[in-house]
Amino acid sequence: MDIPGKACGACSMCCKVLEIEELEKPAGPACKNCIVGGGCRIYQQRPDVCREFECLWKNDRNMGAKLRPDRVGTILMEDEECNEYRAVCDPDKPLAWRTPLVFQHLVSVAKSGRIVVAKAGLKSWRIRASGEWGPEV
Ligand code: SF4
Ligand code: SF4
Repeated sequence: MDIPGKACGACSMCCKVLEIEELEKPAGPACKNCIVGGGCRIYQQRPDVCREFECLWKNDRNMGAKLRPDRVGTILMEDEECNEYRAVCDPDKPLAWRTPLVFQHLVSVAKSGRIVVAKAGLKSWRIRASGEWGPEV
């Protein structure tokens, strides 16, 4: 069910930043079906992986409009395989997760006991409950 105020709107971060195997799209460049300003040229025929994906911002009433991914340059999402809470950034702006609004959120998630990792391309950083952060090893 859609949450009021939680439309993707002009955001298309996930269509750019994420790797999408089904479309043979690497992480970084925008999908060839992406419409500048938001939207998908093949919306009705888009693959299941696109239909099923929703970032955490879209489904969390507690995350305000300022945290919409395109506004902070960071997609918040779960990594189901390793149970990590992830902040995925555009490789062109790899430190966008340090935007104060995002960083405060990530520290609060770390304080709740989650493993929090920021990623940009092949780079990754661990954010700890103390507010310390550094390259993930
Ligand atoms: S990153 Fe989230 S808000 Fe942005 S287009 Fe994808 S699902 Fe929508
Ligand atoms: S097919 Fe459409 S929804 Fe899927 S990544 Fe490309 S632009 Fe986004």
